[in-house]
Order: sequence, then C-alpha cells, then structure tokens
Amino acid sequence: MTRDPATLLHEVFGFPAFRGVQKQVIDRVLDGKNTLAIMPTGAGKSLCYQLPALARDGCCVVISPLIALMHDQLRAAHAVGIRAASLTSVDSDWRETQDRLRRGDLDLLYVAPERASGEGFRALLREADLALFAIDEAHCVSEWGHDFRPDYRLLRPLLDEFGWVPRLALTATADAHTREDILVQLGIPHDGMIISGFDRPNIRYAVHPRDGLSRQIGDLVASQPGPGIIYAQTRAATEKMAEMLGKDGRREVRAYHAGMPPEMRSANQSAFIASEDMVMVATVAFGMGIDKPDVRFVAHAGLPKSIESYYQESGRAGRDGEPAEAHLFWGAEDFARARMRITELEDARQAGERARIAALGALVETGGCRRAILLRHFGESPPATCGNCDNCLNPPPRIDVTQVARKFLSA
Ligand code: ADP
Ligand code: MG
Repeated sequence: MTRDPATLLHEVFGFPAFRGVQKQVIDRVLDGKNTLAIMPTGAGKSLCYQLPALARDGCCVVISPLIALMHDQLRAAHAVGIRAASLTSVDSDWRETQDRLRRGDLDLLYVAPERASGEGFRALLREADLALFAIDEAHCVSEWGHDFRPDYRLLRPLLDEFGWVPRLALTATADAHTREDILVQLGIPHDGMIISGFDRPNIRYAVHPRDGLSRQIGDLVASQPGPGIIYAQTRAATEKMAEMLGKDGRREVRAYHAGMPPEMRSANQSAFIASEDMVMVATVAFGMGIDKPDVRFVAHAGLPKSIESYYQESGRAGRDGEPAEAHLFWGAEDFARARMRITELEDARQAGERARIAALGALVETGGCRRAILLRHFGESPPATCGNCDNCLNPPPRIDVTQVARKFLSA
C-alpha cells in the first residue's frame, strides 16, 4: 500500500509544500528507482527518505556517519510521530529495536556504515520488510571526496543482497568527480542523479587580497550592520581578533572555538543567536547546526578548506533571504600552506585535495563572476554574470582576449 505524498507532507510533517527538488526525488524513490540527490545543506534532504519511509510498506534503513546526527534525526522523527530507532554503541534497547524491525513496527532505522555492512546486520534485515536504503552524506563513499570513510565502501554487498530495495544516496557536497564515484560505488544510474539549485542570490560575494587584514576586517565590521561571523584560521586568532575588533566598544564582539570552556562557548553562541548586531569571530567549529536566519555577513580571514566548505560557511549568511554579504580575504601564503598540507596526505587522497585547492584558486583569482564559478563547481550552468558579486558589480580592467583572438582568427 502506498500513501499519498502530498497528504503525508501536510498531515505528518505539517509543511504546506515541497521545496526545490524534494518532490522529484520522492517520486523517483516511490517508483522504486535508485537515486542520488545532491541538495545544499538545509534544503531538506531528510524529508526525501522520511516521507517515502511512511509512504511505502516496510522500514527505511538510513546509513548515517555520526551518532550525533542520528540522534538529532531521531528526535525530529519522534516529534512528528514517525516510528524510528537506531542501532549504535550508545543505544541500550537493541533487542527491542530488533524485535520492532521484525514485527514491522519501524518506519526508520538508523545505523552507521560499519554496522550496516556487518554480517549480523544483514542477517537481521533478512527477517525484515524493507522499504528503502537511504545513504546520507554519500560523498563519504568517495576517496576523492573531502570526507572519505572507508566503511562506506563496504555497503555495496549489503545493497546488492537486497537488490530489489531502492537506494537513495544524499549529499550536499559533490564535485563532478565525487559524484561519478558515488554513482559507481553505490550502483546508481547516471540518469538517477538529481541536482537542486545551489544559488543563494541574496548573498553578495566579494574576494579581497589581504593587505593589512586588521584594517580590512575593521572596516568591514564598521560598515556592516547586523549580526556577522568572521572565520579565523586558528583558535588563538579568534580571540586576538575579537579583542581587537571589540576594543572601541562600539559593537559587541565575541570569540568561539572548540578549545574554550564549554560554558563560555555555549554562552557566546546563545548571545550571538539572540543578538541583532553581534560579531562572532570563530573557527569553523562554529555554525554547524546553528540556525540563525538574520546573519548579515560572513567573512573568511583566510582561505577556507575547500570550495565546498566555503559555500557552506558563507551560506550561513542571509538564510532569511534578505541581502547579505560574503567576504573572503586571502593571500598567496594560504595556498602555499594548503599545498604543504597536501603532501602530508596519503597518495590516494592527494589528487582530490589538489583539485579542491585549484577550485578555490579559480574562485579567488577570476576576473569574472564568482557565483558562476561556485555554481559550476556544483554542476549547474549559471549565466556568465550574476550582477551581485564584486566582479560583476565592478568589473576589473582586463585585456579582452576574445576580441584579440577573434581578430587573429579572422585575419
Ligand atoms: P539537509 O539534510 O538537506 O541539510 P534537513 O533535512 O535537515 O536538511 O532539513 C532542513 C530543515 O528544513 C528542517 O528544519 C526541515 O524540517 C525543513 N524542511 C524540510 N522540508 C521542508 C518543506 N518542504 N517545507 C518546509 N520546511 C522543510
Ligand atoms: Mg542532512
């Protein structure tokens, strides 16, 4: 029996409409087709498997890389009355969960990849009725990806043993190479890939060569009202910069990094969330899972780790859809440091990492549209100019190479 998706959306999840490609993904999954969904963070990937889990008979097995993520998802699922459980090292109700799975009393079952690929788990699934395999954070399957997890590679025999159960892979971050890898590794056809819009049109992107960083950041903070996040490269730098920026007392500035006492960290975070004009100077530890819609600017005081992290971190600005800005300050030494880091990696991972740095290089060095470079990286075909980045608003002077070439060719 299949239940109607629109009815489930309203009655169980309480949402008025599907967002972006959700409907497209869900329709494919309900058709029983293997699918890879590439959707930005916050786009609503979870719904793409939660809803089919309710619409189809049987349980949806969700492969997820982190216990913390699983437990967040469980809380959210329970809140709307979905029958969900997990089998992890911190769960004490294994026996009950296994019984519920056998009885058909579970809509969602969360497991880590190392558990899912084990023989014990496969034996358990043979006794159950399955609706779907959802592979969350699917870029972890790729050595080329930025977060390779060898255990994801072991999933394929499990998926193939239950070959009649549709599989849905989900990720927010996948360049062309990683994507290809996901399709091959998980056995998903090319026409099963659905990419949603990555564009954040209200964010204005600007990139600046570092030239007196303290002054540059100081000017930014002085000219930008509204809450802002500045990403610094080190824990020590967050504290130093916060102190420097807050000195004149015109604006509240706080620091955040993982090395702080937990009470101070959470106090600073709560203060930021409640504030209408605070500036937070933080390491990239700040922001994950924080939903503050009115952040007006995000600045990077140095090169981010990858173009994916840049998209993600700058994307914390302007979630409310109102105008917001993303500023990136970089120097040649950032690239030198990144290259050093690469040489320390295992061989298999170097190529991917090098490509990620090269993508960042293209972003900072282009005289053309920044947004176009970002979006092309995520597989989209944006127009050549966006009208809302530094280069589109203020084109840098350059030689018109195409005209020179055209003259040369027509001569
Ligand atoms: P992702 O995994 O893609 O980062 P989530 O699945 O965690 O995103 O969803 C992000 C937020 O969007 C959640 O709060 C979720 O409840 C909400 N959401 C998902 N789908 C819809 C929708 N169709 N309408 C409104 N809100 C939605
Ligand atoms: Mg998610």
